[in-house]
Amino acid sequence: MAENLCEDRWAGIYVVQKHRATQLHYDFRLEMDGVLKSWAIPKGPSLDHTQRRLAMLVDDHALEHAEVEAEDCIIWDRGCWRPQGDLSPEEQLERGLLEFELAGEKLTGGWGLVRFTDDPKNWLLVKQKDERSRPGSEVTTEEPESVVTGKTLDRGAP
Ligand code: MN
Repeated sequence: MAENLCEDRWAGIYVVQKHRATQLHYDFRLEMDGVLKSWAIPKGPSLDHTQRRLAMLVDDHALEHAEVEAEDCIIWDRGCWRPQGDLSPEEQLERGLLEFELAGEKLTGGWGLVRFTDDPKNWLLVKQKDERSRPGSEVTTEEPESVVTGKTLDRGAP
């Protein structure tokens, strides 16, 4: 899926993996410069544009990781992404504001990642207010399953 999935008008692949580690979180990944830029989101994304979700910048991952499903990890969403505006993704990351569009199965429309402290790891993921925002909804609980296998992560003790 890593190659030939996204047409030219998209910048690259996008994936969210729901990961049951010490703390359950969602790994939000965007293909950039041949790797997956990655943020760990404890509460997961929300389609409600009034919600701001803590997103901790973590290590880049190899593109192949986008296809990983395991006992403790499902592919919760995937598709393609592209930056909005004239700045490159790298320039947007440098300024601490990345504005982009997603074409996933669950997440679509406009989004923002905003760095909110001097610590370069601390970002917020926010849905832009557009025709794809769904105020009051929680897509993580409404659609918990893998988009690839339909599996959900077992509840209960990690
Ligand atoms: Mn993880």
